[in-house]
Amino acid sequence: MSTDTQRYFDYAATTPADPRVMEAMFGCLGAGGVFGNPASSSHTAGLKAKHLVETARAQVADLIGAAPSEIVWTSGATESNNLALKGFFEAEQGRRHLVTSSLEHKAILDTASHLERRGASVTCLVPDASGEITVAAVEAAIGRDTGLVSLMMVNNEIGTLTDVAAISRVVHAAGALLHVDAAQAAGKVEIDVKAMGIDLLSMSAHKLYGPKGIGALYVSRDVAPRIACQMHGGGHEQGLRSGTLPTHQIVGMGTACEVARMEMAADNARIAALSARLLAGVGALEIVTQNACDAPRIPHTLSLTVDSPNFFPFMLADELAVSSTSACNSAAGKPSHVLTGIGLSAEAAERTVRLSLGRFTTEADVDAAVACFGKAIAQCRAFDVPRQKVA
Ligand SMILES: *Cc1c(COP(=O)(O)O)cnc(C)c1O
Repeated sequence: MSTDTQRYFDYAATTPADPRVMEAMFGCLGAGGVFGNPASSSHTAGLKAKHLVETARAQVADLIGAAPSEIVWTSGATESNNLALKGFFEAEQGRRHLVTSSLEHKAILDTASHLERRGASVTCLVPDASGEITVAAVEAAIGRDTGLVSLMMVNNEIGTLTDVAAISRVVHAAGALLHVDAAQAAGKVEIDVKAMGIDLLSMSAHKLYGPKGIGALYVSRDVAPRIACQMHGGGHEQGLRSGTLPTHQIVGMGTACEVARMEMAADNARIAALSARLLAGVGALEIVTQNACDAPRIPHTLSLTVDSPNFFPFMLADELAVSSTSACNSAAGKPSHVLTGIGLSAEAAERTVRLSLGRFTTEADVDAAVACFGKAIAQCRAFDVPRQKVA
């Protein structure tokens, strides 16, 4: 898939909406569609909207093995993460210790810092050399004071998988709860919140071919009474999150989850083959290495470092829409906390790009990407002459 002149390799940042999602959404906006307020129970316009919202809730629940009543609509995974962490620590008076990791999204890290300023204590685990947060590391960090452990299922920069099922056993054995940021996992890996022992789980529609601005927090039935509402006003969503429900957004997310559930296996097989083709192609260029390649991982998201001091991610920008890790943290001018977290130097992190593949990636896209790397590396080599010393 390409946008203008660039081939799109940034599905981990966001995905285009699936055409089936858009069609479902259009039906919920205009006068001839289901535009009513889902909370208006006194007329059919409202009741129809409520019906669509509840159908979508079941579709989201089905994707992760939850009950529909355990799905709380939010504006996205950022809000879901905020609700999970702040909501838990606001209600919890005894256990004030949070365990999380340096691999997490800023929506977790910044929320954790906020809680720390409010008196919580925070342990930030670092991954092992392969890029994994291990069960042993989590077990060692948990104490009698630990209330919540928050870890992502799939990392957004390097594509590594966390063994949340094994981690949930040590978390629960210690009497704590497990929150999982699954924004990058939903629709790509099988999730069963019950079998995996997950208490709270964040999702975002725009990472799985749904619209931006809608997400969900799974709140296990047993845990719901322990989460304090962060958005007051009207008591929607079982009192956990108020605000008029955006029917079109919700229907979009429900449809996206339904499509993901039906097509995940086929999508994954195709993307794995494309990803292997890309890795083989850039691997043949000899100076491209894949980060965290030994850890359990998804094939969709590749973190590649070019081993030449002359390489800059912008050299790919004419043809490829990729994410350069320096841009992610550009505000602070800092290298990616995830890449330095797995042991890359700040300088190597600057020579690293993330390519993420998705539903609309084609073989032609992959071949163009390999050719583009080839061109950039040839340029690097042309400049690779001994530098003159400046007196
Ligand atoms: C994208 C993302 C988020 C933020 O989701 P929004 O819906 O954009 O707020 C949080 N966590 C991870 C891992 C993500 O990839």
